[in-house]
Amino acid sequence: MKGHFPIERFASMRTPFYYYDMDLLRQTLQAITTEANKHEGFCVHYAIKANANSQVLKTIRQAGLGADCVSGGEIEASLKAGFPSSKIVYAGVGKSDWEINLGLDAGIQCFNVESVPELEIINELAGAKNKIANVAFRINPDVGAHTHANITTGLAENKFGIAMRDMESIIEQASQMKNVNFVGLHFHIGSQILDMGDFQALCNRINDLQDQLERHHIIVNSINVGGGLGVDYQHPNRIPIPDFKAYFDTYAKRLKLRPGQTLHFELGRAVVAQMGSLITRTLYIKNGAAKKFCIVDAGMTDLIRPALYQAYHKIENISSEEPFETYDVVGPICESSDVFAKQVDLNSTKRGDFIAIRSAGAYGEIMASQYNCRPLPVGYTSDEL
Ligand SMILES: *Cc1c(COP(=O)(O)O)cnc(C)c1O
Repeated sequence: MKGHFPIERFASMRTPFYYYDMDLLRQTLQAITTEANKHEGFCVHYAIKANANSQVLKTIRQAGLGADCVSGGEIEASLKAGFPSSKIVYAGVGKSDWEINLGLDAGIQCFNVESVPELEIINELAGAKNKIANVAFRINPDVGAHTHANITTGLAENKFGIAMRDMESIIEQASQMKNVNFVGLHFHIGSQILDMGDFQALCNRINDLQDQLERHHIIVNSINVGGGLGVDYQHPNRIPIPDFKAYFDTYAKRLKLRPGQTLHFELGRAVVAQMGSLITRTLYIKNGAAKKFCIVDAGMTDLIRPALYQAYHKIENISSEEPFETYDVVGPICESSDVFAKQVDLNSTKRGDFIAIRSAGAYGEIMASQYNCRPLPVGYTSDEL
C-alpha cells in the first residue's frame, strides 16, 4: 500500500520539497483533542521545534493547542501564528537574556527553568521590568526511555533539568525571590517512545516526588510531563495516527493528580510526523559493483534524521507500478553518510520518477541546512496545491 499524492501537481514543481497532508494533520489533531478532553485538567501544547511551517502552526493553533518553545525564535513564531501568550511555555538549558526578556514582555504562561543560575537571572530580569515570572522546574527524573541514545533526555547523565535531590532547595530559593512565582514541575524523558511502560515509569517517579513535596507542605499547581510519544515509521499508511487514547489513558490511570492540578503535555513528533513527506526526483540509476544506487535530488541537508540517528523512513516510488527492485537510495551531498536507506525495495525506478520519503513532517524541514550552498527545501500544504 502506498500513500496518495497529487502527482500531476508535482510535475511542474522544483524538487526537493516537503508536502504536508493537512487533512491528516486535522484528523490527528481531532484525535488528540478528543482523547485529551476526556480527562479533566489535561492541556496539550505543541512542541514548535518539530515543525514551524506557518500553515501547520496555524492549523494546530486553531485546534486549541498551546505552544511549547525552546528558543526566543520559537516564541516569536508561535506569537506570529496566533498562539495566545497565556498558552506558551518555554524550556531550554541555555536561555539568553534577550530570550528571557522576550518571554517576559509577551507574558508567557511559564518558564521551565533548568538551573539555579537561570532562576536567578529570570528573577533579576523580571525585577527590572517590575514583573513576576511564572516558573516551573524541569526535574531530571532519571528515567530511561527505550529509544535512540541521542534522543533520551531524562537520565542523570543528560544535560537537561535539575537533579531530583536539588528539587526542594530550588523551590525554597524561589520562594525567597520577589519576581518569580513557582507554579509547577516539568519533565521530558525523550522522544519516539512507543512503550507505555516508559511513561508509566515517569508517572511513578512523579507520584513519589509529589508525596515528598506534600510532606513539606509544598503545593504544586501544574505538572508538565513533556512529550515523546512516537509514531510508526514502518507503517505510515496503515497507522497514520498514533494511539493517543493509550497515551492519555496511561497518564490518567497512573499519575495521581491532586485536586485542581492541571496536567500539561508537549507533543511534537506525534502531531506532525506522519502528515509530512519529502518529495524528491530520481536523478540517476547507477549500477555499482555490487548494488544499484537510486540517486535522488534530496540529501541529508533536506532531511538529516537518517544520517544523524540512523533513523528509518519508509521510501516509495510514487511514479512507478513496475516490479520491485532493490536499491540504495542516496543524495547528492559530498558525505558518505548522505544515504536515506540501504537495500530497499522500490518499484523499478527510472530518471524523473518521484520518490516520497515518508513520515518526514517532524524534525525534517525545520532541521534543513544549506550545506553545499543548497537552497532550503520549501514546505507546501495540500490545501494550497
Ligand atoms: C523536544 C521536546 C518536546 C517534544 O518532543 P517530541 O518527542 O517531538 O514529542 C517536548 N518538550 C520538550 C521540553 C522538548 O525539548
